[in-house]
Amino acid sequence: MRTIRIAKPMLPSLMEFFFYATKIWKSRMVSNNGQFHMQLEKDLLHFLEAENVVIYSNGHLALEAAIEAMELSGDVITTPFTFSSTTQAILRKGLKPVFCDISADNYTIDVDKIESLITDKTSAILPVHVYGNVCDVERIQQIADRHNLKVIYDAAHSFGVKFNNVSVCQFGDASMLSFHATKVFNTLEGGAVVFREGILRQKLNALKNFGIDSDGFISSSGGNAKMNELQALIGLLNLKKINVEIKNRRLVYEQYQDGFINYNGISLVSEQINVKSNYSYYSILITNEEKSSEELVIFLNSKRIVAKRYFFPLTSEIGQLQENINANQTPIAKYVSDRVVALPIYGDLKRKEVQRVINSVKEYMEL
Ligand SMILES: *Cc1c(COP(=O)(O)O)cnc(C)c1O
Repeated sequence: MRTIRIAKPMLPSLMEFFFYATKIWKSRMVSNNGQFHMQLEKDLLHFLEAENVVIYSNGHLALEAAIEAMELSGDVITTPFTFSSTTQAILRKGLKPVFCDISADNYTIDVDKIESLITDKTSAILPVHVYGNVCDVERIQQIADRHNLKVIYDAAHSFGVKFNNVSVCQFGDASMLSFHATKVFNTLEGGAVVFREGILRQKLNALKNFGIDSDGFISSSGGNAKMNELQALIGLLNLKKINVEIKNRRLVYEQYQDGFINYNGISLVSEQINVKSNYSYYSILITNEEKSSEELVIFLNSKRIVAKRYFFPLTSEIGQLQENINANQTPIAKYVSDRVVALPIYGDLKRKEVQRVINSVKEYMEL
């Protein structure tokens, strides 16, 4: 029996890749704003219905650049139910993460709990669109406006997601996207900042290229986070297939939902109205107290199915990163992180394989 992996990167056909790669071999333009890099930024602008896009070597450095370009200071309100990257970016830019609890419905920031965390040190809110579920973008903006805060979304999971028919990237001051191999859209490694104010473009470009400005002078501080031409080419070719990928993921999602709906001891994330999802992750919550997410993952592994506790642990509990924060301050995030399991999902996951996953989960639950 074949191992069912948890994610499988979308790749273009090799023939097609070779066809275009010959242009790179001929021109010997392999990095620094080559033709594929420029074309990818342009195509993404269009696909994401964004005002501005700057692409990076990965999502994490894109997030650090967004934080730096906006000159945030002091405290940033965020959630601990995320990949460590979100919290690492805040800490590595010398800021303090202030952890807000999440909503039990879709695991994004609980907007009712944001305002009590705001102090005169707060400079921004950095919410995460978990699994592609959309944060309460309207209320977050109202809160930010009331307190004069910036909003940067970790939209690593949200490529192609729409809310009320509007691209999620249009909300907040900026959004970070990840094009890592495990994400819905990938450039092997890669990422982007999508942002509203065009004035940030110069800074965001300089930050990924040693502080070099558009006149070729070094006029600010900066490191290196440029995307190369081969990756940009992979992105361009993957982008042509993205709608099919999302459509196929939807079928997997629906099969899982049908399989688990009303099943005792498992609770599912509710589908958000007015949201066009990208089905980037599929997770279940083990509510039966006698069963554990840890055991389920081990059981599935023994059946050659890769599953993952995602996200676990909470980033507030990673003692090496910061003072260990009492996780009881975010009880819902704690509960979900302890009991959640992400199951395999990708476009060409076969119906038979999805059924094998569903059956194996139920087999564990009935042990
Ligand atoms: C993947 C991911 C990141 C980091 O993106 P990379 O492209 O891997 O650097 C950040 N936040 C979340 C929520 C992610 O899932």
